[in-house]
Amino acid sequence: MQDDQSGGDVLRFAPSPNGWLHLGHAYSALFAFEMAKRIGGRFLLRIEDIDKGRCRSEYEEAIYEDLAWLGLEWEDPVRRQSEHFAEYERGLKRLREMDLVYPCFATRKEIQDAIVASGIPLQNWPTDPDGAPLYPGICKDMPKERLNELMWEGRTYAWRLDMEKAKQEAERINGGPVTFVEEGESTRGDHGLLPVEPQLFGDVVIARKDVPTSYHLAVTMDDALQGVTLVTRGQDLFPATYIHRILQVLLGLPEPRYHHHGLVRDEAGRRLSKSAEDMGLRELRSAGRSSADIRRMVGL
Ligand code: GLU
Repeated sequence: MQDDQSGGDVLRFAPSPNGWLHLGHAYSALFAFEMAKRIGGRFLLRIEDIDKGRCRSEYEEAIYEDLAWLGLEWEDPVRRQSEHFAEYERGLKRLREMDLVYPCFATRKEIQDAIVASGIPLQNWPTDPDGAPLYPGICKDMPKERLNELMWEGRTYAWRLDMEKAKQEAERINGGPVTFVEEGESTRGDHGLLPVEPQLFGDVVIARKDVPTSYHLAVTMDDALQGVTLVTRGQDLFPATYIHRILQVLLGLPEPRYHHHGLVRDEAGRRLSKSAEDMGLRELRSAGRSSADIRRMVGL
């Protein structure tokens, strides 16, 4: 960890309760907590539970229990995203008023079919930094009348950000290219003032079909609403920062600094996943490991 003397910072750990915490989460949580302590900042915990299908209350309870066991302390009340859909809806409304989003009715299958129909072999179709195929633009150029018809038919739809237009508008508002300050390390190994490359994601979903938000919109609005000034998180989320910075500029939200940290890997060098049971904090605890052991294992 580099030494950062900026006091008064607000940091957070923002897990999703869709599985049990593992060593990777312990590292990320301790990273933020220890840094906040070191620089005299505040530490918040946020529960990112917009995915109603995958999030479960027992996972949330386990988050509180595991983090307390690790020796973390956080401020009350804990912000739970599922209690704030109306706020995210306001952000979405603003983007709609700016004419930067459009409804998308396409199912996963229809998206796949459109890619196949393009004649480009699936393995050659461009993917975003998370490995998902870029949206082929099915609903983007649909006439407004057709979109209205589909809405009247009661088909469910997501809202997608027109990324090219959004980037242009953000640059106009910003008076130049949108950048951000990386205090950790990007996936390319650089840091400092970095440019955003949101086009790598194409037209991302900004509000899902089932809830009026997405990870990107909720995380951006919450960091602002909670006054987070230093976002620390794993390098897997580094590219998502491109989208978050665009949204911050568009919605007139303050710009935090970022510190992306390396990921905990298993012995074979693989990233830990929710199913990495041998690295689960509960399993390690019942195998007799102490929280000091966990800190040693993640090097903090
Ligand atoms: N909720 C996200 C996750 O569990 C982290 C969000 C963030 O730190 O920006 O992966």
